[in-house]
Amino acid sequence: MSLVSGPGRAQVAGGNLPNELQLAVEKHVKYIQSLDTRKDELEYWLTEHLRLNGVYWGLTALHLLGHPDALPRHETVEFVLSCQHDNGGFGPAPGHDPHMLYTVSAVQILVTVDALDELEKRGKTGREGVGRYIAQLQDRDDGSFAGDEWGETDTRFLFGALNALSLMRLLSYIDVTKAVAYVQACANFDGGYGVSPGAESHAGQIFVCVGALAIADRLDLVDKDRLGSWLSERQLNNGGLNGRPEKLEDVCYSWWVMSSLAMIGKLGWIDKDKLSKFILQCQDPELGGMADRPGDAVDVFHTVFGIAGLSLIGYPGLKPVDPIYCMPLEVVNRAVGR
Ligand SMILES: [Zn+2]
Repeated sequence: MSLVSGPGRAQVAGGNLPNELQLAVEKHVKYIQSLDTRKDELEYWLTEHLRLNGVYWGLTALHLLGHPDALPRHETVEFVLSCQHDNGGFGPAPGHDPHMLYTVSAVQILVTVDALDELEKRGKTGREGVGRYIAQLQDRDDGSFAGDEWGETDTRFLFGALNALSLMRLLSYIDVTKAVAYVQACANFDGGYGVSPGAESHAGQIFVCVGALAIADRLDLVDKDRLGSWLSERQLNNGGLNGRPEKLEDVCYSWWVMSSLAMIGKLGWIDKDKLSKFILQCQDPELGGMADRPGDAVDVFHTVFGIAGLSLIGYPGLKPVDPIYCMPLEVVNRAVGR
């Protein structure tokens, strides 16, 4: 199970583009399947620190493309379980230290392939052990979360904790009220959120903060009109979205910005046709995969967020994505009991 970039490149805007761009579904499926067969390449080993995340990105993309069985389920579950430690946490690959972000990916993968019972039977710990690992990373004074025992705090970790615990129905393990208060402390006058109190607004941080509030059922705290207009200003003339003012467009922001707009009910504040055209220009129509912008090398990270962005704006043929969890909507509905 791997994560590598390339070998393909997205087509260059202004080149010989067909008038009607199409999503190259079969090519993307083949691209994701090929990622695990390139173990002889140096890049496979250089990206070992991202492997569990890579499996989550590839698996989610395949589900949204309507090919949920394109990765072998048994090997996927075995790989995830081999990354677990005795303390309940997961590392990115066997033998690597556990961290919140990999633990969240592990839970998301197991829930997507409906394998929490296999964790219970064959994991180093069951689901409750995973929940306790996540819960002990919360600072019980200010509600924030660290990523691992070394203690760096980031709203990404807070969101990850709420995400994984809610999927396992273990939210009661943490102080949700204090977590919500911490997110509130990261809110800015422009309606956005930063990485910590006082930090500037950034689309990635907005996604995790609004997502955390959505899971805690506290979207009433969001200044929806102000945030909606800040997010809608992220769309540039070429249709792509950036993460904050004065920055370049990037396919992954199609996800951070659009999912945030979806959570506050303002998806209509973006020109969807222009965005969908931009995302399609970022794919390699021959070898599959998507890049951050036209002409760059493809990778599985931008592939999943490009496809998820297209799903969110209703691109035909894709399975609906859940805007909070970035997982198939029907999987999340089943897991959290909506
Ligand atoms: Zn990006």
